[in-house]
Amino acid sequence: MFLSNTNHEEDQPCHLKLADPSIPLGKNLPLYDEPAQRYCPAGVYEIVTLESGEKKFQINAQNCVHCKTCDIKDPAQNINWIAPEGTGGPNYPNM
Ligand code: SF4
Repeated sequence: MFLSNTNHEEDQPCHLKLADPSIPLGKNLPLYDEPAQRYCPAGVYEIVTLESGEKKFQINAQNCVHCKTCDIKDPAQNINWIAPEGTGGPNYPNM
């Protein structure tokens, strides 16, 4: 993301893990219209509709700005945000 100069190494493992992958579509979508689509400031979480009409919970982990909101705000506490490795993460110059 340009504004925070977030830098990611291409081969790092996904640092956003779901404890139960069925919760976003099974519970959060019908009950809360999957709030992760709205509270994440970087648009990491998306509900996409496939050509078949099936819905999919997509995690665009490369967009993450590591604000940790998802770790706190998920209704089922289902998202585990793991601190990124190495030198990735926001780089705020002049701080
Ligand atoms: S840590 Fe912040 S930016 Fe990254 S996925 Fe979670 S809510 Fe989005």
